[in-house]
Amino acid sequence: MLSVHGSPLGQLGTDSAGGMQLYIRALSRELGRRGTVVDVFTRRSDPCQPKVVSFGPNARVIHLDAGPAAPIEKNAVLNFLPEFLCNLQRFRQAVGLEYDVIHSHYWLSGWVGNLLARRWGVPHVAMFHTLGRLKNQALAEKEESDARIEIEERIVDGADRIIASSEHERLALVDHYGARWENIAVIPCGVDLSLFRPLDQAAARAMLELDGEVLLFVGRIDPVKGLDVLLQAVALLRTRPNLTLVVVGGSDTERELQRNRRLAHDLGLDGRVFFKGAVPQEKLPIYYSAATLCVVPSYYESFGLVAMEALACGTPVIASEVGGLPTVVRDRENGLLVPRHQPEVFAQRIAQALDDVALRRALRLRARASVLCYDWGIIAERMIAMYHGLTGTCGHDALSVVELAAAEP
Ligand code: UDP
Repeated sequence: MLSVHGSPLGQLGTDSAGGMQLYIRALSRELGRRGTVVDVFTRRSDPCQPKVVSFGPNARVIHLDAGPAAPIEKNAVLNFLPEFLCNLQRFRQAVGLEYDVIHSHYWLSGWVGNLLARRWGVPHVAMFHTLGRLKNQALAEKEESDARIEIEERIVDGADRIIASSEHERLALVDHYGARWENIAVIPCGVDLSLFRPLDQAAARAMLELDGEVLLFVGRIDPVKGLDVLLQAVALLRTRPNLTLVVVGGSDTERELQRNRRLAHDLGLDGRVFFKGAVPQEKLPIYYSAATLCVVPSYYESFGLVAMEALACGTPVIASEVGGLPTVVRDRENGLLVPRHQPEVFAQRIAQALDDVALRRALRLRARASVLCYDWGIIAERMIAMYHGLTGTCGHDALSVVELAAAEP
């Protein structure tokens, strides 16, 4: 596995670690349990990180030097990809390992994956998690660089298989990147059903000192997550005396968190909105179980693990109707979908779910059952079957080491 810019062992919910890191961690563990040996290569971002860390049977993280051993901005990692690639080559030669499949995550790793696959003559499975063109389309201000989009196009051309987490992502890859339909396998993300399960709501609320109508937001604090729209929606619902919003994710040093705190204050929401910062996965079931509703107001979401985790805890979800979210959240079945990204429409849907007690009860009853098919074990089996389908079928020309070293991202 290649996860250059974020370690699967990083703290989830902060700038550099979210759904993708959780995905790699959980999938690798499940693969390892099933006898598939997984090495996850990532960039060293702290001088104290040991070279090799085991995180489950047959699963290890390998920290490679590439650029400063300190956190750096995601896009700056691009400059250090050749160094990463050379150090990965050196590691493999030093330990004498042969890998059967390269599975890359995100465009930065996909660049490395394309080159290594040609060098080693093994298949490259690429997973984007988010796509630059879709992100730019969803946000008012263009965030993603032309370099990212160009590299994504190259990965689409070079990878032996692309994993899309939903049919929506498959369509987007075909429409926006010219990917071949048959080259894309749709394998959804998974959820840990033993961790994420319904807890007694009263007990969960007592632990968190919450009561009344509790809305929950969980995620990295990134413009694409649409927290500002939710804050505006909560401001419109101010007349409800018992309504509060709990925001989980982010750290105080992040500019985007500071911006949202200011917005909440300017909207007069002090005492209504509680910013809790990043919370470890193990504690999240308490938050999901305590909430009346979980709200996912993202502008774009390739899948939406948070929605799935909330549902696994029996909590209905109000989500924007974007990206892969409608795959998980089905309108009036386990939650409500919000068709337009406007605070008024969010406020109206939230009020509907809060006022219609019969509807809410029905949504709660169906929530957990609706995600049982996403158990990590099932997802890992599908991934293994896909790897087996690929191995032995790929005939790349090997690149020379000189070509590799000279490769510029
Ligand atoms: N998460 C967490 N603690 C936090 C915030 C988020 O463990 O404080 C986890 C959350 O449980 C989920 C992941 O981070 O598994 C976020 O995944 P999602 O797909 O919703 O968003 P992404 O980060 O991939 O955009």
